[in-house]
Amino acid sequence: MKAAVWKSVNKIEIEEIGIPEIANGEVLIKVVYAGICGSDITILNGKHINAKPPVVLGHEFSGIVEESKSSYFKKGDRVGVEPLVSCGFCKPCSEGNNHVCANLKLLGINENGAFAQYTKAHEAKTFKIPDKMSLAEAAMLEPFSVAMHGMDVSKMRIGSHILVVGAGPIGAMTALLAGYFGAGKVMISELTDFRVNYAKKLGFSAFNPTKEGDLLAHVLKNTDGNGADIAFECGGTPESVKACLDCIGIKGRVVQIGIPKQLVETDYRRMIYKEQEIMGIRIYQKGTFGRAIRFLSDRNIALKDFVSHFFSLEDIAKAIECADDKNRSMKVLIKF
Ligand SMILES: [Zn+2]
Ligand SMILES: [Zn+2]
Repeated sequence: MKAAVWKSVNKIEIEEIGIPEIANGEVLIKVVYAGICGSDITILNGKHINAKPPVVLGHEFSGIVEESKSSYFKKGDRVGVEPLVSCGFCKPCSEGNNHVCANLKLLGINENGAFAQYTKAHEAKTFKIPDKMSLAEAAMLEPFSVAMHGMDVSKMRIGSHILVVGAGPIGAMTALLAGYFGAGKVMISELTDFRVNYAKKLGFSAFNPTKEGDLLAHVLKNTDGNGADIAFECGGTPESVKACLDCIGIKGRVVQIGIPKQLVETDYRRMIYKEQEIMGIRIYQKGTFGRAIRFLSDRNIALKDFVSHFFSLEDIAKAIECADDKNRSMKVLIKF
């Protein structure tokens, strides 16, 4: 089969490799859609915390069961996969927090993933996709689950004023969820024209601080001078973290979804006096993925609108380049 293998820094190549063999309790999946994630770009650039080449990337995907050694799945089932592989033995796992497993691995990061014609998954991590959900949308269950986990831990209350910094796919999904959760104002800050316009097309109000002025002034104006109750940091840069911390009010909270690659300086004393919090978000909890399927399919949410580009597997390098250009793309999917 054809697979996109990460070989070394900035080198990803299409290679012919063997179709994965499955063990009892596993399914072989013919991949139909696979999403490009910011972490694929981080890996390719050699900046990921624990990914090592060679590995087939791709952890956001959907497909059709080709072969099953599970009594729960049969050939032809449409499926999505939660790509987390937890050890089950460490302290976090033993306390039910498998998503922060001390030995956590991900399909498509630490083990071969879905930028390939076939991939395999354990039955416990494989989810049947309802007929009314397209497989393109099912490939976005993974990033959507991240946004859901952020919302779950945000302690958001009805009427809370929300700021989302960074209007990439997860930022826009977070804004969508904030609306469903009964937020007061949902403000988005985004530095690229493309994503500001994309957010507006999706029905959100978005603000570009490089074009429209001071973000803090914008937030204060929209919150009666109080600042945001919760800021969701989805930009993953020291500047966007600082923007979140500046814009939350007394008792405000930053939900840290993006992953800055540099150290971030912050005014610790201000946080103490204002009793502010920063919540770290790692992937999503056990159960989030299944709830994401129910939430999206029961409401007929058109997650496909979050996709800006489709590429073929052969064009993986172009697809990653496109996904890396925030002024050109939202979610980029590989279509097999
Ligand atoms: Zn991802
Ligand atoms: Zn563990």
